[in-house]
Amino acid sequence: MKAIQVVTPGKIEIIEKEMPGINRGDEVLIQVRLVGICGSDMHIYHGTSPVATYPRVIGHEMVGEIAEIGSDVKRLAVGDKVVMEPIQWCGTCYACRSGRKNVCTQLEVYGVHKDGAYQEYIVLPEKIVHKVDSRLDWHEAVLVEPFTIGAQANWRGDVKAGDFVFIMGAGPIGLCALQVAKIKGAVCMISDLSDDKLDYARSLGADYVLNPLKDNINVEIERITDGVGPNVTIDAVCTVKTFEQAVEMTSVAGRVVVLGFSDAPSQIAQFHITKKELTVVGSRLQSDKFAEVIEWFNSGNMKVNSFVTHRFALEDIHQAIKLIETSPNEVRKVVLEVGGMQK
Ligand code: MN
Ligand code: ZN
Repeated sequence: MKAIQVVTPGKIEIIEKEMPGINRGDEVLIQVRLVGICGSDMHIYHGTSPVATYPRVIGHEMVGEIAEIGSDVKRLAVGDKVVMEPIQWCGTCYACRSGRKNVCTQLEVYGVHKDGAYQEYIVLPEKIVHKVDSRLDWHEAVLVEPFTIGAQANWRGDVKAGDFVFIMGAGPIGLCALQVAKIKGAVCMISDLSDDKLDYARSLGADYVLNPLKDNINVEIERITDGVGPNVTIDAVCTVKTFEQAVEMTSVAGRVVVLGFSDAPSQIAQFHITKKELTVVGSRLQSDKFAEVIEWFNSGNMKVNSFVTHRFALEDIHQAIKLIETSPNEVRKVVLEVGGMQK
């Protein structure tokens, strides 16, 4: 079978791999149908991921169909349409015991630390495989994982109905966070340098869109929030500067959610945090968010049918990468169709 492997940073290849088989009773064999290309996959390809190891079959945004189940599998059956929760955790460390398996000391992420979903078949333990409604389109279901990232950011920021939420950045993560915040009943502001992205964000329910190239962000946000500031700021731009801005502008008793992996220090005065009693939190991957997100998808509450903008065959990964790199403003989510998408 075929798989996409980043051999070393900068070198990506279609390889032939042996078909995987079920070795343990709790495992399932999945025929992969669609995989999404994530910013983190691009980082692994470029050698800018601080955590990846090589060679690596990348990919973690997957939807497929159960082809075979192990003898102890209870929740899943052959033919089920499923997505994967791309993490492996120990279950015993402090993080795991605190319900935060996504930051487990032994954490391994599929497609990063261990081989991921850019392959025709994958074997996974049942506990990280989640069934979605069979009526969901493949092109919708492939988005469940990115939306769990948005759900996590909202959970970490304790977003509640009526909160003013400012999302910095209208890329895929910002847009997922936006839609989750709208479901939670927040008033949402979102910023981006691209008017196209902002137009799309507005179509998804953003109440206010701001372009720092034209708008004075501080003035606009003060006006919108009556001088109070956003109650929650989700920084999906992840620069040294945006983190500083987030801490400065967020309201009293507010929350700042950071998603970046840069180790470049920001200059943040204690004053803002203490005076306003801010909560500054990180948000990484997700912890137990699949059930909630799948419910939004199954019930039709989450409208995602316009999110996938480009489709390629697995074999055309180089073309897909080229498109992502040359047309960043036209691309929301690029997906790879695996095995010709028969059926
Ligand atoms: Mn992703
Ligand atoms: Zn653990």
